[in-house]
Amino acid sequence: MARHGRSTDWGFPRWRGYSGGREAAPVRLCDRSGCDDRGDCPAPKSPNSPERWYFCEKHAAEYNSGWNYFEGLSKEEAAARESDERRDAGGYSEAAHYAWAGSGDGSRTRDEMRALDLLGLEPDADFEAVKKAWRSKAKEVHPDVRPGDADAAKAFQALQLAYEVLRAGEERREWKG
Ligand SMILES: [Zn+2]
Repeated sequence: MARHGRSTDWGFPRWRGYSGGREAAPVRLCDRSGCDDRGDCPAPKSPNSPERWYFCEKHAAEYNSGWNYFEGLSKEEAAARESDERRDAGGYSEAAHYAWAGSGDGSRTRDEMRALDLLGLEPDADFEAVKKAWRSKAKEVHPDVRPGDADAAKAFQALQLAYEVLRAGEERREWKG
Protein backbone atom coordinates (compact mmCIF):
# COMPACT_ATOMS: atom_id res chain seq x y z
CA MET A 1 0.00 0.00 0.00
CA ALA A 2 1.46 3.32 -1.00
CA ARG A 3 1.83 5.48 2.05
CA HIS A 4 4.62 7.63 0.68
CA GLY A 5 6.81 6.71 3.60
CA ARG A 6 5.07 9.21 5.78
CA SER A 7 4.78 6.91 8.72
CA THR A 8 8.40 7.46 9.69
CA ASP A 9 8.50 11.16 9.01
CA TRP A 10 6.20 13.32 11.03
CA GLY A 11 8.27 16.41 10.55
CA PHE A 12 8.81 16.45 14.30
CA PRO A 13 12.01 14.47 14.84
CA ARG A 14 11.81 14.40 18.62
CA TRP A 15 8.74 12.20 18.47
CA ARG A 16 10.49 9.39 16.76
CA GLY A 17 12.34 8.31 19.83
CA TYR A 18 9.24 7.66 21.85
CA SER A 19 8.19 4.42 20.26
CA GLY A 20 9.15 2.16 17.44
CA GLY A 21 5.96 2.81 15.59
CA ARG A 22 2.46 4.03 15.71
CA GLU A 23 1.24 0.57 16.61
CA ALA A 24 3.12 0.59 19.86
CA ALA A 25 1.16 3.42 21.39
CA PRO A 26 -2.37 4.67 20.96
CA VAL A 27 -2.08 7.66 18.72
CA ARG A 28 -4.89 9.70 17.41
CA LEU A 29 -4.80 9.65 13.64
CA CYS A 30 -5.93 12.44 11.39
CA ASP A 31 -9.72 12.33 11.05
CA ARG A 32 -9.49 12.84 7.33
CA SER A 33 -10.42 9.51 5.82
CA GLY A 34 -7.47 7.67 4.37
CA CYS A 35 -4.89 9.87 6.06
CA ASP A 36 -2.41 8.06 8.28
CA ASP A 37 -0.76 11.10 9.72
CA ARG A 38 -0.94 12.02 13.34
CA GLY A 39 -4.01 14.12 14.01
CA ASP A 40 -3.08 16.71 16.56
CA CYS A 41 -4.65 19.84 15.15
CA PRO A 42 -8.11 20.21 16.68
CA ALA A 43 -10.78 21.86 14.56
CA PRO A 44 -14.29 22.58 15.80
CA LYS A 45 -16.92 20.47 14.06
CA SER A 46 -19.21 23.46 13.87
CA PRO A 47 -19.04 27.00 15.22
CA ASN A 48 -21.11 26.25 18.33
CA SER A 49 -19.96 22.72 18.95
CA PRO A 50 -17.47 21.79 21.65
CA GLU A 51 -16.68 18.70 19.62
CA ARG A 52 -13.53 18.62 17.59
CA TRP A 53 -12.10 16.89 14.62
CA TYR A 54 -8.41 16.13 14.89
CA PHE A 55 -6.52 16.62 11.69
CA CYS A 56 -2.92 16.58 10.63
CA GLU A 57 -1.52 19.98 9.81
CA LYS A 58 -2.26 19.72 6.12
CA HIS A 59 -5.86 18.64 6.53
CA ALA A 60 -6.49 21.10 9.35
CA ALA A 61 -5.51 23.82 6.91
CA GLU A 62 -7.72 22.29 4.27
CA TYR A 63 -10.63 22.03 6.68
CA ASN A 64 -10.19 25.53 7.99
CA SER A 65 -10.20 26.97 4.52
CA GLY A 66 -13.71 25.70 3.99
CA TRP A 67 -12.94 22.19 2.94
CA ASN A 68 -16.13 20.22 2.60
CA TYR A 69 -15.69 16.56 3.14
CA PHE A 70 -18.29 15.43 0.67
CA GLU A 71 -17.89 18.15 -1.87
CA GLY A 72 -16.96 17.02 -5.32
CA LEU A 73 -17.10 13.37 -4.42
CA SER A 74 -19.05 11.11 -6.67
CA LYS A 75 -20.82 8.14 -5.15
CA GLU A 76 -18.18 5.90 -6.65
CA GLU A 77 -15.38 7.84 -5.02
CA ALA A 78 -17.11 7.77 -1.69
CA ALA A 79 -17.63 4.05 -2.00
CA ALA A 80 -14.02 3.57 -2.97
CA ARG A 81 -12.91 5.45 0.09
CA GLU A 82 -15.15 3.34 2.25
CA SER A 83 -13.62 0.20 0.89
CA ASP A 84 -10.14 1.67 1.35
CA GLU A 85 -10.89 2.12 5.00
CA ARG A 86 -12.02 -1.44 5.30
CA ARG A 87 -9.02 -2.79 3.45
CA ASP A 88 -6.78 -0.85 5.81
CA ALA A 89 -8.14 -2.99 8.59
CA GLY A 90 -5.92 -5.74 7.21
CA GLY A 91 -5.86 -8.82 9.35
CA TYR A 92 -7.52 -7.14 12.26
CA SER A 93 -11.18 -7.49 12.99
CA GLU A 94 -13.35 -4.59 12.00
CA ALA A 95 -14.26 -4.09 15.60
CA ALA A 96 -10.65 -3.53 16.53
CA HIS A 97 -10.13 -1.27 13.58
CA TYR A 98 -13.06 0.94 14.38
CA ALA A 99 -12.48 0.99 18.08
CA TRP A 100 -9.80 3.63 17.67
CA ALA A 101 -12.47 6.25 17.10
CA GLY A 102 -13.04 7.38 20.62
CA SER A 103 -15.57 9.91 19.47
CA GLY A 104 -18.08 7.33 18.34
CA ASP A 105 -19.79 4.18 19.45
CA GLY A 106 -16.89 2.09 18.25
CA SER A 107 -18.68 0.56 15.31
CA ARG A 108 -18.81 3.39 12.81
CA THR A 109 -16.22 4.40 10.31
CA ARG A 110 -14.79 7.86 10.08
CA ASP A 111 -16.86 8.46 6.97
CA GLU A 112 -19.99 7.53 8.86
CA MET A 113 -19.06 9.83 11.69
CA ARG A 114 -18.72 12.67 9.24
CA ALA A 115 -21.99 11.80 7.60
CA LEU A 116 -23.70 11.91 10.99
CA ASP A 117 -22.14 15.25 11.67
CA LEU A 118 -23.38 16.58 8.37
CA LEU A 119 -26.88 15.46 9.30
CA GLY A 120 -26.53 17.20 12.64
CA LEU A 121 -26.72 13.92 14.56
CA GLU A 122 -24.86 12.56 17.54
CA PRO A 123 -22.31 9.77 16.92
CA ASP A 124 -24.63 7.19 18.49
CA ALA A 125 -27.74 8.10 16.51
CA ASP A 126 -29.56 5.06 15.18
CA PHE A 127 -30.56 4.56 11.58
CA GLU A 128 -34.14 5.67 12.19
CA ALA A 129 -32.78 9.01 13.36
CA VAL A 130 -30.58 9.10 10.27
CA LYS A 131 -33.55 8.62 7.98
CA LYS A 132 -35.54 11.26 9.78
CA ALA A 133 -32.77 13.85 9.75
CA TRP A 134 -31.93 13.11 6.16
CA ARG A 135 -35.54 13.48 5.02
CA SER A 136 -36.11 16.77 6.77
CA LYS A 137 -32.81 18.26 5.66
CA ALA A 138 -33.05 16.99 2.11
CA LYS A 139 -36.53 18.44 1.81
CA GLU A 140 -35.20 21.94 2.44
CA VAL A 141 -32.70 21.79 -0.38
CA HIS A 142 -34.48 19.47 -2.77
CA PRO A 143 -34.14 20.54 -6.43
CA ASP A 144 -37.94 20.65 -6.69
CA VAL A 145 -38.07 23.15 -3.88
CA ARG A 146 -35.02 25.18 -4.91
CA PRO A 147 -34.83 24.91 -8.68
CA GLY A 148 -31.75 26.45 -10.23
CA ASP A 149 -30.09 26.97 -6.84
CA ALA A 150 -26.55 25.64 -7.21
CA ASP A 151 -25.75 25.82 -3.50
CA ALA A 152 -28.91 23.96 -2.62
CA ALA A 153 -28.14 21.35 -5.25
CA LYS A 154 -24.70 20.87 -3.77
CA ALA A 155 -26.10 20.58 -0.26
CA PHE A 156 -28.68 18.11 -1.49
CA GLN A 157 -25.96 16.02 -3.08
CA ALA A 158 -23.92 16.03 0.11
CA LEU A 159 -26.95 14.88 2.11
CA GLN A 160 -27.60 12.09 -0.37
CA LEU A 161 -24.03 10.96 -0.07
CA ALA A 162 -24.11 11.11 3.73
CA TYR A 163 -27.22 9.00 3.67
CA GLU A 164 -25.67 6.47 1.28
CA VAL A 165 -22.60 6.14 3.48
CA LEU A 166 -24.71 5.54 6.57
CA ARG A 167 -27.06 3.14 4.84
CA ALA A 168 -24.14 1.10 3.51
CA GLY A 169 -22.70 0.95 7.01
CA GLU A 170 -26.01 -0.12 8.45
CA GLU A 171 -26.34 -2.90 5.89
CA ARG A 172 -22.81 -4.04 6.51
CA ARG A 173 -23.53 -4.41 10.21
CA GLU A 174 -26.77 -6.23 9.56
CA TRP A 175 -25.03 -8.80 7.40
CA LYS A 176 -22.49 -9.42 10.07
CA GLY A 177 -25.06 -9.67 12.84
ZN1 LIG B 1 -4.42 14.30 7.44
